[in-house]
Amino acid sequence: MPLFTPGHRKQHKFYPLMPQPFGYRVLEQIERWIKGPLFGCRMCGNCLLQETAFICPMVCPKGLRNGPCGGSTPERCYVDERYPCVWYEIFKRSFAMGREHKLLEVLPPVDWGQMGSETWYGVWKSVRAVGVRRFVGGMASRDAATRARVWDSVFRPIRQPDWWGGDDQPHPPAYTEPVSELERRLKAGEFVVATEIAPPLSTATGKLIERIEQVKPYVAAINFTDNPSATPRMSSLACSKIALEHGAEPVLQMTARDRTRTGLQSEVIGASALGVRNMLVIAGDHSRLGPSPMSRADILDVDAVQMLWILRKMRDEKKYLDGRALKEPPQFFLGAAASPFASAPHFQALREEKKVNAGAQFFQTNLIFDTDHFEVWLNALARRNLLGRVYILAGITPLKTLKMARHLHTKVPGVVLPERILKRMEAAGDGAQQEGLAIAVELIAAIRKLQGLNGVHIMAVGWEEIVPTLLQEAGLAPAAV
Ligand code: SF4
Repeated sequence: MPLFTPGHRKQHKFYPLMPQPFGYRVLEQIERWIKGPLFGCRMCGNCLLQETAFICPMVCPKGLRNGPCGGSTPERCYVDERYPCVWYEIFKRSFAMGREHKLLEVLPPVDWGQMGSETWYGVWKSVRAVGVRRFVGGMASRDAATRARVWDSVFRPIRQPDWWGGDDQPHPPAYTEPVSELERRLKAGEFVVATEIAPPLSTATGKLIERIEQVKPYVAAINFTDNPSATPRMSSLACSKIALEHGAEPVLQMTARDRTRTGLQSEVIGASALGVRNMLVIAGDHSRLGPSPMSRADILDVDAVQMLWILRKMRDEKKYLDGRALKEPPQFFLGAAASPFASAPHFQALREEKKVNAGAQFFQTNLIFDTDHFEVWLNALARRNLLGRVYILAGITPLKTLKMARHLHTKVPGVVLPERILKRMEAAGDGAQQEGLAIAVELIAAIRKLQGLNGVHIMAVGWEEIVPTLLQEAGLAPAAV
């Protein structure tokens, strides 16, 4: 058997009984022994240590490859509190090393065919393609830019295979006329209101339709959440179709947790054919938080940044992920979630920039109860020149009960409910609902004064009937209603 066979490296882990050439096995073991202790390497075979300040991100319970999730904090991972958030550590070290620009590169989904295999032979082939002399000469150069260029010419093909072709640059949409009412109103400069409805837990659609009819006159669009808290419900796509039939404009939500790269592309084409014109992608709550035994969502096939990248390419470059031409591409206004209270504002701002570069045209934020901190996040976005490049809708939730306020105060990752709001809810006693409504009205008034805001996204969490009253009291109800 030859020591190395071109192409043999691919897919061997899925055929574990096939004999592996001796040279690969030796290299694999050496790489494992060296990179494991040094970098926490998990031998994914898709090495991206160059972009992650030499910390392996494969320990992230969500398998994210493009930055922290909305629940990350400086102290801990929200999924497994025994450990720090690996992405917080990566961002911290990247900023300390002056390598934060590396974090903007959109990194591809894992090629699972490479899982467990070595990468050093690929690096060697890359060095030979560049030319051994040129590589050694470049790396010996006194000019840092030359060193960086030569280094990159070797490692770029390893982390950015041809089938992906990602980069770190913005890509404005390839169309000019708005494709949805939500986009039209935002482009027209209106202060826009959207809301969301959690899909039913059964096939009964009566309550869903009632809620759609209730909120429809007041909002530009209605999001239908996608199995929130990793709990199965009617699909967001089915609810979106029902909304269209009742004259409302839907926002189809898609979590990375419940998608493969193939399923994602297929669903988006189907949704567009059905007339859905707004799509929002999020990573989704980890399956450990749901009621069923934990699924394989511990490793996502694609993350939210990759989803944005894939969808933008389908729409604007008329290509499937595999490069096949897409003759009649889907049309949509593409959104993402933003988490102003996760990790640190300047880390999150970099993460939001990556999402905008990948294709996000609008953000709907996590719940806002602390407008001062929210402004800090907006300022961090302004420093990265993001305001005006992406529409931002601030997430507002009217508190229905004291129990809900207590839950949000202590238990929900990425949400900061300040002590003063909790105290107001406690003092309200039987008038908790009225107090919760008053707090939401005050928050909207404060948020409207902030720079770079384009609207609000009301997340009433099972209290959708309050949306019309809230918008009337906040002065956001249309005159005609
Ligand atoms: S907090 Fe989120 S990004 Fe950080 S390690 Fe945990 S799951 Fe991954």
